[in-house]
Amino acid sequence: MRIVISEFIDERALPPLRAKHDVLYDPKLVDDAPRLKAEAASADAFIVRNRTQVRGDLLAALKVCKVVGRLGVGLDNIDVPGCEARGMQVIPATGANALSVAEYVIGTAMLLLRGAYQSTAAVADGKWPRNALSNGRETAGKTLGLIGFGSIGQLTAKLARGLGMEIIAYDAMMAGDHPAYAAHGVRAAGLDALIAGADVISLHVPLVDSTKNLFNATRIAAMKRGAVLINTARGGIVDEVALAAALKSGQIGGAAIDVFAAEPVPASAHFADCPNLLLTPHIAGVTAEANERVSFLIADKVLEALR
Ligand code: NAD
Repeated sequence: MRIVISEFIDERALPPLRAKHDVLYDPKLVDDAPRLKAEAASADAFIVRNRTQVRGDLLAALKVCKVVGRLGVGLDNIDVPGCEARGMQVIPATGANALSVAEYVIGTAMLLLRGAYQSTAAVADGKWPRNALSNGRETAGKTLGLIGFGSIGQLTAKLARGLGMEIIAYDAMMAGDHPAYAAHGVRAAGLDALIAGADVISLHVPLVDSTKNLFNATRIAAMKRGAVLINTARGGIVDEVALAAALKSGQIGGAAIDVFAAEPVPASAHFADCPNLLLTPHIAGVTAEANERVSFLIADKVLEALR
């Protein structure tokens, strides 16, 4: 059978696929829409990351496909009901990159609370901004508010507890007495109470209708003064213009943003000159270790589905 892979995969996961099937691996295929559609037509299995939009014309082109493997977690680039209606199984790499994202959250939370690590240029330049950087904050004792308490939210809670943080969480699909909260030493909270009470807020929800613009200007304004916001979930959940304004006015104390409404971010003015802002190009879940786990997991599951 034929497997088409349209975005990058850890190449060590290819030999087991090639041993049993004809594999087309071209990490640039995603950028060539006509060729992508043509190759999709003969794919029995289709493996994508987050840039290939499996919907509309491309979905219609997948005439013989039985399985779509997603090298990652969010399924917002895949029309899952559309795939299922055509008898295709959709398989995400659930959990395989969760630790990389959780470590990103802890790392950026510590950087942003302390606020002292962007002084390299000044120190190397002979300046000594010691007074200006003497008000950094410790992480222990601070309250972490997790919005979405699935695999990444729970793993982040586990790491944060090791640092002595208090943790509260809100998850629209989990009752307040769900055992996962107690198991992680986490207090369930309503969304408004979490936003008002957390020193660090981290988002771990999928991008769906109910989470679009969830962190709008009103909710950003309701954050504790000086609190920090971390978004590794999806662009479109946080209002980027309102976030930039809140950083510039000092209403919030910092932000780490890995995912954006448009990726790559267009060179536009809204993030320029924001203090204590860390921007990364959608890499929270992408590390050497996570790539390996995600790639082998999807290769295994696709092989199983084709068996
Ligand atoms: P998950 O499915 O295990 O958990 C998501 C949780 O969100 C679930 O518990 C669900 O009940 C909850 N939820 C759904 N709608 C909600 C709402 N309206 N309000 C509050 N909670 C809601 O998923 P996960 O593995 O924890 O991943 C979370 C998201 O992180 C993914 O959907 C993906 O978009 C994103 N992600 C990003 C990266 C990256 O590299 N930046 C990597 C992995 C995952």
